Amino acid sequence: MNERVNEPLVIAIDGPAGAGKSTVGRALADRLGLGYLDTGAMYRAMTFAVQQRGVAEGDLADVAAVAPLVSIEIDDTRVCVDGVDATEAIRGRDVTEGVSQVAANPVVRDVLVERQRTWVTDHGGGVVEGRDIGSVVFPDAPLKLYITASPRVRAERRVNQVGGDVDEVEASIIKRDRFDTSREHSPLTEATGAVVVDTTGMAIDEVVDHILELLERTR
Ligand code: C5P
Repeated sequence: MNERVNEPLVIAIDGPAGAGKSTVGRALADRLGLGYLDTGAMYRAMTFAVQQRGVAEGDLADVAAVAPLVSIEIDDTRVCVDGVDATEAIRGRDVTEGVSQVAANPVVRDVLVERQRTWVTDHGGGVVEGRDIGSVVFPDAPLKLYITASPRVRAERRVNQVGGDVDEVEASIIKRDRFDTSREHSPLTEATGAVVVDTTGMAIDEVVDHILELLERTR
């Protein structure tokens, strides 16, 4: 008998910045009737809170002291930090520039990983997206995906969504990827057993259909 039949379904999605993880993750969650958790928004929210307190992102001890105290509420459309709507602010340049440093702090990671696991327990499963979901947060997820695309394509998609100069955006995502893949704690990596999906040249619907087929095969 398949032991997993009664377990809550978790789909773990990792990959570099701008690879289409969020769009694919939301579409998958919709199609499967599951909740969707963007863990990057949690690290961004934490960064916003650190900056609001005037703490330097790289100050290990001060950021560690702040992390457990920060309230983060996330639903499908809004992100509130310490009771204040920060939905737009967490996508701004200051947070985007500082987030990788805050996310490299081991205490921040411990605090947020625990909250992510609690979210999944409370929601009875879900589609969870980030950098360490298949490797650290849910290593036993029945489907683990590593979604990627060429840096240029990722930059072009980002510019289409939020504007900006494509060369600058490409340089910024390459810098962030380098930081995320080389950090000591929970670096971005292809988790053991993850299926790599390169979305360069693929439409979102094609990616979602492909993943649903993969899911069928695991069941
Ligand atoms: O997904 P997004 O680009 O919004 O993530 C912002 C940053 O948060 C990443 O560049 C990474 O530094 C951090 N992050 C992380 N672990 C996750 C999700 C995001 O370290 N699970």
